Amino acid sequence: MAYHVSADEFERIAADALESIPPALRSQMDADNLLITIQPGATNDDRDEGIDERVLGYFQGSTESTFSPTGYPKRIVLLQHHIERWCRTRAELVDQVRDTLLHEVAHYFGMDHDDIEKTRLHH
Ligand SMILES: [Zn+2]
Repeated sequence: MAYHVSADEFERIAADALESIPPALRSQMDADNLLITIQPGATNDDRDEGIDERVLGYFQGSTESTFSPTGYPKRIVLLQHHIERWCRTRAELVDQVRDTLLHEVAHYFGMDHDDIEKTRLHH
Protein backbone atom coordinates (compact mmCIF):
# COMPACT_ATOMS: atom_id res chain seq x y z
CA MET A 1 0.00 0.00 0.00
CA ALA A 2 2.97 2.28 0.19
CA TYR A 3 3.11 5.30 -2.09
CA HIS A 4 6.65 5.94 -3.34
CA VAL A 5 8.17 9.06 -4.86
CA SER A 6 11.75 9.88 -5.87
CA ALA A 7 14.11 11.46 -3.35
CA ASP A 8 13.86 14.75 -5.29
CA GLU A 9 10.09 14.70 -5.20
CA PHE A 10 10.07 13.91 -1.50
CA GLU A 11 12.40 16.85 -0.91
CA ARG A 12 10.01 19.16 -2.78
CA ILE A 13 7.09 17.91 -0.69
CA ALA A 14 9.11 18.51 2.49
CA ALA A 15 10.08 22.01 1.29
CA ASP A 16 6.40 22.82 0.73
CA ALA A 17 5.58 21.50 4.20
CA LEU A 18 8.26 23.77 5.63
CA GLU A 19 6.62 26.72 3.85
CA SER A 20 3.43 26.01 5.81
CA ILE A 21 5.21 26.84 9.07
CA PRO A 22 4.60 30.44 10.19
CA PRO A 23 7.51 32.74 9.12
CA ALA A 24 8.16 33.86 12.71
CA LEU A 25 8.81 30.29 13.78
CA ARG A 26 10.80 29.51 10.65
CA SER A 27 13.16 32.45 11.15
CA GLN A 28 13.77 31.26 14.71
CA MET A 29 14.59 27.79 13.38
CA ASP A 30 16.94 29.32 10.79
CA ALA A 31 18.66 31.51 13.35
CA ASP A 32 19.29 28.41 15.45
CA ASN A 33 20.68 26.51 12.43
CA LEU A 34 18.11 23.79 12.82
CA LEU A 35 18.74 21.26 10.08
CA ILE A 36 15.96 19.39 8.38
CA THR A 37 17.26 16.29 6.72
CA ILE A 38 15.68 13.44 4.84
CA GLN A 39 16.89 9.88 5.17
CA PRO A 40 15.53 6.97 3.16
CA GLY A 41 15.14 4.93 6.34
CA ALA A 42 16.63 4.32 9.76
CA THR A 43 20.41 3.99 10.03
CA ASN A 44 22.12 1.49 12.33
CA ASP A 45 22.63 4.29 14.85
CA ASP A 46 18.94 5.11 14.67
CA ARG A 47 18.02 1.49 15.27
CA ASP A 48 20.30 1.43 18.30
CA GLU A 49 18.25 4.36 19.56
CA GLY A 50 15.01 2.45 19.14
CA ILE A 51 13.97 4.10 15.88
CA ASP A 52 11.93 1.42 14.12
CA GLU A 53 9.60 1.33 11.12
CA ARG A 54 6.75 2.97 13.03
CA VAL A 55 8.82 6.11 13.58
CA LEU A 56 8.23 8.59 10.75
CA GLY A 57 10.71 11.20 11.88
CA TYR A 58 12.47 12.50 14.92
CA PHE A 59 13.99 15.56 16.46
CA GLN A 60 17.54 15.39 17.74
CA GLY A 61 18.67 18.12 20.10
CA SER A 62 22.32 19.05 20.47
CA THR A 63 22.35 18.72 24.24
CA GLU A 64 20.16 15.79 25.19
CA SER A 65 21.42 13.47 22.49
CA THR A 66 23.16 10.46 23.96
CA PHE A 67 24.65 9.13 20.76
CA SER A 68 26.36 12.28 19.55
CA PRO A 69 29.11 13.01 22.08
CA THR A 70 30.76 15.38 19.60
CA GLY A 71 27.53 17.33 19.31
CA TYR A 72 25.57 17.25 16.12
CA PRO A 73 23.64 20.39 15.36
CA LYS A 74 19.97 20.24 16.24
CA ARG A 75 18.12 18.51 13.48
CA ILE A 76 14.85 17.10 12.39
CA VAL A 77 15.06 13.89 10.41
CA LEU A 78 12.26 12.74 8.13
CA LEU A 79 12.33 9.05 7.27
CA GLN A 80 11.05 8.89 3.70
CA HIS A 81 10.29 5.18 3.36
CA HIS A 82 8.67 5.01 6.78
CA ILE A 83 6.33 7.87 5.86
CA GLU A 84 5.55 6.46 2.42
CA ARG A 85 4.59 3.17 3.98
CA TRP A 86 1.40 4.70 5.44
CA CYS A 87 0.29 6.51 2.30
CA ARG A 88 -1.66 5.33 -0.74
CA THR A 89 -1.88 8.58 -2.67
CA ARG A 90 0.20 11.66 -3.24
CA ALA A 91 -2.30 13.74 -1.26
CA GLU A 92 -1.90 11.40 1.72
CA LEU A 93 1.86 11.61 1.39
CA VAL A 94 1.77 15.43 1.34
CA ASP A 95 -0.43 15.42 4.47
CA GLN A 96 1.73 12.90 6.26
CA VAL A 97 4.97 14.74 5.52
CA ARG A 98 3.44 17.97 6.82
CA ASP A 99 2.07 16.29 9.96
CA THR A 100 5.41 14.63 10.66
CA LEU A 101 7.36 17.83 10.12
CA LEU A 102 5.01 19.92 12.29
CA HIS A 103 5.14 17.24 14.98
CA GLU A 104 8.94 17.36 15.09
CA VAL A 105 8.98 21.17 14.92
CA ALA A 106 6.70 21.14 17.96
CA HIS A 107 9.26 18.99 19.77
CA TYR A 108 11.95 21.42 18.71
CA PHE A 109 9.97 24.21 20.38
CA GLY A 110 9.84 22.13 23.55
CA MET A 111 6.36 20.66 23.35
CA ASP A 112 5.74 17.16 24.65
CA HIS A 113 3.11 14.79 23.31
CA ASP A 114 0.40 16.09 25.66
CA ASP A 115 0.95 19.63 24.37
CA ILE A 116 0.94 18.40 20.79
CA GLU A 117 -2.39 16.61 21.28
CA LYS A 118 -3.93 19.83 22.60
CA THR A 119 -2.88 21.85 19.59
CA ARG A 120 -3.94 19.06 17.21
CA LEU A 121 -0.56 19.02 15.51
CA HIS A 122 -0.65 15.30 15.90
CA HIS A 123 -3.44 12.86 15.24
ZN1 LIG B 1 6.81 12.90 19.04
